[in-house]
Amino acid sequence: MPILDAEGIVLRQYSLSEADRIVVFFTKEHGILRGVAPGSKKVKSRIGACLEPLNHVRIQYYLKKEGAELAYIRQCETLRSYLGRSPSVRGLYGLTYLAEIVHEMSEENNPNQLLFRLFLATLGAAEKLGVRSCLLRYFEFWTLRLSGLLPDYGYCSLCGKCVKDVGFWASREDGQGRCRSCSGERGLRVRPEAMKPLALLAKLPPEEFASLAMGEEESSDLERLAQALFELHLEKCLKSYPIVARMLRES
Ligand SMILES: [Zn+2]
Repeated sequence: MPILDAEGIVLRQYSLSEADRIVVFFTKEHGILRGVAPGSKKVKSRIGACLEPLNHVRIQYYLKKEGAELAYIRQCETLRSYLGRSPSVRGLYGLTYLAEIVHEMSEENNPNQLLFRLFLATLGAAEKLGVRSCLLRYFEFWTLRLSGLLPDYGYCSLCGKCVKDVGFWASREDGQGRCRSCSGERGLRVRPEAMKPLALLAKLPPEEFASLAMGEEESSDLERLAQALFELHLEKCLKSYPIVARMLRES
């Protein structure tokens, strides 16, 4: 059995037996990878300590059969730990939300290196600036964009009119943006104030965008739009989102 290498970020882990866990990684090389980490639940397990959620790791693994669904983790090295030993509640829920997005939007044996880089850059920005609404918006829209699910909202999708200064209505059926007359004012309204951050998002790195002050109106328009696009694609809501949204509103 050949030993394989991968670089990945731990998305989550769950119990398999008394001593073993299953760990879900988002890897640079293969997209989602699920692996059994033998003995990882034992108190002194080195591999167990390495496989905490949101750790950026390098792993060595093997497959018992070619094409097997589960990998077996042999070794693990932590490159960086983004939650650390005593994360804040905000950090914990915020980063768990990012991990859920990546998990839902990715597949096994289907790498997305740009999404991998975005994830690492966003985790780095969260480590420096803390989890904040602007950073979550950044990650949501870029993930949608890199997954080919972000329409060009600068123009009405039906008549082609430029709506960069006036905003648009996003159709609840397909997420496409429409001008006032084509939409009949039906759909999700994205007001003119939100158009500037939407355009900036495409140009700035995460740290710079997350440092901008964004008003409540534009932030809430973009927040609702991103959730609607995820929901259209996934045909369900993101589970960890409501608690993150509430936490950020209350703080
Ligand atoms: Zn139109």
